[in-house]
Amino acid sequence: MNAYVTPAASVKDEVSAILSRLGVNRGQGSGPPLTARSPITGEAVAEVPTVSVDEAKAAIDRAHEAFLLWRKVPAPRRGELVRLLGEELRAAKTDLARLVTLEAGKIVSEGAGEVQEMIDICDFAVGLSRQLYGLTIATERAEHRMMETWHPLGVVGVISAFNFPVAVWSWNAALALVCGDSVVWKPSEKTPLTALATQALFERAAERFGGVPAGLSTLLLGGREVGEALVDHARVPLVSATGSTAMGRQVGPKLAARFARSLLELGGNNAAIVAPTADLDLTLRGVAFSAMGTAGQRCTTLRRLFVHDSLYDAFLPRLKAAYASVRVGDPRETDTLVGPLIDPASKRAMDKALDEARADGGTVHGGEAVTVDSGVYVRPALAEMPTQSPVVLRETFAPILYVIRYTDLDEAIALQNAAPQGLSSAIFTNDLREAERFTSAEGSDCGIANVNLGPSGAEIGGAFGGEKETGGGRESGSDAWKTYMRRATNAVNYGRTLPLAQGVRFDV
Ligand code: NAD
Repeated sequence: MNAYVTPAASVKDEVSAILSRLGVNRGQGSGPPLTARSPITGEAVAEVPTVSVDEAKAAIDRAHEAFLLWRKVPAPRRGELVRLLGEELRAAKTDLARLVTLEAGKIVSEGAGEVQEMIDICDFAVGLSRQLYGLTIATERAEHRMMETWHPLGVVGVISAFNFPVAVWSWNAALALVCGDSVVWKPSEKTPLTALATQALFERAAERFGGVPAGLSTLLLGGREVGEALVDHARVPLVSATGSTAMGRQVGPKLAARFARSLLELGGNNAAIVAPTADLDLTLRGVAFSAMGTAGQRCTTLRRLFVHDSLYDAFLPRLKAAYASVRVGDPRETDTLVGPLIDPASKRAMDKALDEARADGGTVHGGEAVTVDSGVYVRPALAEMPTQSPVVLRETFAPILYVIRYTDLDEAIALQNAAPQGLSSAIFTNDLREAERFTSAEGSDCGIANVNLGPSGAEIGGAFGGEKETGGGRESGSDAWKTYMRRATNAVNYGRTLPLAQGVRFDV
């Protein structure tokens, strides 16, 4: 049960109470202090120290030393640390979820969902810690054995965005830790408090585990320059960076230039197709959650909807009614479905996009400001568009759903794939041929392609990520762990002769 029902205390008071209950150490550093704000009211709720670039570099060096020790700990034992982290997260779920609501503006159930995702990935990683296995491969040489082994990689840098302020760290950290890596995290400047709280929970788990090398999991608060220090540091063989495509364009080439790995989780511009046989009740719910949930501030938010001509006139009025009636308000109130935008810049970007949509011949429903305290709140917008003009192909990180008619499935798939991003996608249909075509090689070109559910709200068991301008990275479930390890192929000769591969002769 969530202990918080009504917003009784001020946001600032609630924040301080949670930070003190979680034993948060605000850290230290000689960088410029960072002001944490709550989007619920727009007020400043805390000031926290940040690190300088030199301090960041020194912390990364310490994380490397931690890695050298941690890689020697057997993987199932490393899994025990992650199991304890999962326990701490379970125990602190209500507080951490509430802090996500206060700092990122997520509604209560989505704040809780984000922490649940952290718990789920810990469970996954604990099991994984006994399954980091490679192949044994048939060899052409007599009395030889060939196999793959997977070894810890090094310091894993994690750069995260404001909209999943804690889950993204856990998807990376839980895997990296069982893989034998150390982790250095640079969270969004907009969400330092949830990061501090998460670090405090890690430290509790580490204390219970005992003997964890200092610097195994390090939090670096700071601005872009701290992220850049992580990207540029020679001791960091992998950076997992989540954020805008603009950020990825800067980070990706720098990592490539020093031959480090990048795991890029960048912008999305996700679409869904509503086909003639779609179950409209289910479709309405799927579209509403995917497009309006998290106030349109998920990388997987539904932003483009292609509706078949045969049901457009039946479906649109229902969708408009849902948009007009959804409750926009304080995310702490349990009947709110759409909370605030993160800051005034988001509203400006939304207004600009809607103006552009109108200029392109679109008809806009909603999108107006809603007055709630002094935060930035908007009614989600539907924009009926004649064509997929440039504004539709751009990710505007706000609740705007562009709707376009189509007549032919191939045309709809082509429209969907025309976006430069390739994260998530969906089709609503009860036609088996259409569903299979959509998920086939000729269908959606995205990293996620769903049938009869929206593009938003992935679960941790699958590999998460997308193609094209989304960056190509995969994290979380399936075999994403392989990115956090290095692979060695070992050939062992247990005979007394030395047959060479490919029949080569070299007798000396
Ligand atoms: P952002 O790009 O502004 O910032 C993300 C992080 O990158 C921050 O920590 C920031 O300090 C850091 N950063 C920015 N420039 C950097 C640089 N040159 N070097 C190193 N670090 C740098 O993104 P945001 O506004 O916080 O988040 C919204 C964006 O993130 C959206 O585009 C959204 O689609 C995307 N996102 C993607 C995923 C995904 O999994 N694909 C998940 C969440 C968010």
